[in-house]
Amino acid sequence: MSRANAFAAVFLSLTLTTPACAQRESTADQLRESREQLVAEVARDGIRDSATLAAIRTVPRHEFVPEDQRVYAYVNTPLPIGYQQTISQPSVVGMMTELIEPRTGKRVLEVGTGSGYQAAILAETGCRVWTIEIFEALASQARDRLARLGYSDVKVRHGDGYAGWPEAAPFEGILVTAAADSVPPALLEQLAPGGRLVMPVGDPDSHQDLVLIQKDARGRLASRQLIPVRFVPLLRGVR
Ligand code: SAH
Repeated sequence: MSRANAFAAVFLSLTLTTPACAQRESTADQLRESREQLVAEVARDGIRDSATLAAIRTVPRHEFVPEDQRVYAYVNTPLPIGYQQTISQPSVVGMMTELIEPRTGKRVLEVGTGSGYQAAILAETGCRVWTIEIFEALASQARDRLARLGYSDVKVRHGDGYAGWPEAAPFEGILVTAAADSVPPALLEQLAPGGRLVMPVGDPDSHQDLVLIQKDARGRLASRQLIPVRFVPLLRGVR
């Protein structure tokens, strides 16, 4: 954790534990300020897309993490969300969002809903979002949370993302937020011509690279390895 991050966490923990009712308004201001600092860090990590940065500025990440992790919500780090799963690091969320070139009305499939944060970021950029989660409890928590926060257009399914979401295909963007040694064939099939798929590919227990796959107008695939990353594994069989 950088010094700035450590400061942000301590600052936030002080403000969130201040009991006085009078603090409530300034807490909202401080949450906004914490988000602003997070946007600055994500931008320092090379994320440039304005819609992506605006989404990180807007989406309340503290609502997507368990109570005991809230003080770290605006630190640029992954955090545990239960079931041995994590909410991704904001810079990685930013990079994956930017890579699919979000725009209003774009049809995007996410595999690995987790907390729902990445789905909310995509929705905030104007994308139409379908998201699949293999743990029933996480899927239903994310569905409720997204609806409560005003992202009720996001469609959440409990199921195995290896199969994609054939009824809603094709998708102009596909984001997979868990790692496997290859891209599930169903996802490549469900990618529209001109579409972009982003996924961590490699050994789920060690080295993975973030990979961008583009399908051209004639359906040909081209793949590029971007940066080394570390994600939880893409699992098989619904839970
Ligand atoms: N995008 C999430 C974090 C992803 S962690 C967020 O913003 O919070 C990866 C998620 O993928 C976990 O919730 C895990 O349960 C889920 N997952 C793993 N294998 C899966 C599969 N085959 N299909 C759908 N979801 C899967």
